[in-house]
Amino acid sequence: STGSEPSTPDDNVNVVVRVRPLSQKERQAGHESILQFPGNGQVMIDSGRDSGSRNKTNVRVFTYNVVFEPGATQDDILDYSGIKRLIEMAVEGFSCTAFCYGQTGSGKTHTLTGPPDLFQNRPNPADPRHGLIFRAFLYLFQMLKSRTDTHFVLKASFLEIYNEKVMDLLNTGSGRKPLTVRWSKKSGGFFVENLFTVDCEELDDLLAVLEEGMRNRAVGSHQMNDHSSRSHTILTVHIISEQKMEGGIFISKHGKINFVDLAGSEMTKKTMSEGTTLEEANNINKSLMVLGYCIASLSDSKKKSGHIPYRDSQLTKLLADSLAGKGVTLMIACVSPAQYNHAETLNTLRYAFRAK
Ligand code: ADP
Ligand code: MG
Repeated sequence: STGSEPSTPDDNVNVVVRVRPLSQKERQAGHESILQFPGNGQVMIDSGRDSGSRNKTNVRVFTYNVVFEPGATQDDILDYSGIKRLIEMAVEGFSCTAFCYGQTGSGKTHTLTGPPDLFQNRPNPADPRHGLIFRAFLYLFQMLKSRTDTHFVLKASFLEIYNEKVMDLLNTGSGRKPLTVRWSKKSGGFFVENLFTVDCEELDDLLAVLEEGMRNRAVGSHQMNDHSSRSHTILTVHIISEQKMEGGIFISKHGKINFVDLAGSEMTKKTMSEGTTLEEANNINKSLMVLGYCIASLSDSKKKSGHIPYRDSQLTKLLADSLAGKGVTLMIACVSPAQYNHAETLNTLRYAFRAK
């Protein structure tokens, strides 16, 4: 059996933007969109007039790989975000990550999983509300079925990082004790000790992982008002393959894909806001800030050879292999079009532009 070392293509960070529609409530309250879409991956934001200079408007234009306008469907995200390429690369042995970044209420969870109440009962596979993870699973299984020369083993896990503590979303029985992140000399990567990992032979097994984790996440969120805006979740699918070649030689590969629903990006500034302990604020801050720093370092090729601080947060430790260049990263920046969100929308557009 021969191991293979895939090499990564140059454009290893892809950035797309998804703009959610104004909600019915927002429309009824008379909120208007401050975003326009000139085409060619551009977003134009008009943040309104500066209070000091009456005649100066604040219009900026940013460019991305793809922009999803408010009318985009869940299927559009599957077809045009570049996620299919990540899945194909994960099958080829790469470590890939798709993450949603943006303020609370900007559509991160909607994009990745669809509305949480979708998971209260067994959802209908044809439900148009299904998010990217569900659709990616369907695409993955379709692909594996066509590869009759290769034997595949899939394993999945689902965890949450809250306050720099790693919690298992599939195994909540043991009093919800935090798990330890360790470095493996053997694999040259970080891993979560005792993380529940489910063998997934059928598509249904993968879907069960998604549903179970989503239900457990919802349970956690009742214990605290805005739990989901403070926590990061990572659903990981490991794809282990063995391909039989001529002469009885096997080629084995181990790739994976992470789906990451990040804490609300506004958390980076709420460091000292009411009801937040300093430790909590710093820790939430830390994973998001370190992630931002790692991504910015990666997309700046001059810094590529320099030090990238993966070890500085739990999130970046767990994403290190895919960020470090043995894989491809897709950033989906989620934004609200409403005027009252203009400051956070501008922050997200800037952050996403810098990552490109
Ligand atoms: P986040 O996870 O970023 O906090 P959510 O995904 O929970 O945000 O979205 C906030 C609200 O907006 C939810 O009620 C969600 O259903 C709705 N929403 C978000 N994106 C869309 C969209 N593209 N189309 C329709 N509704 C959306
Ligand atoms: Mg959410």
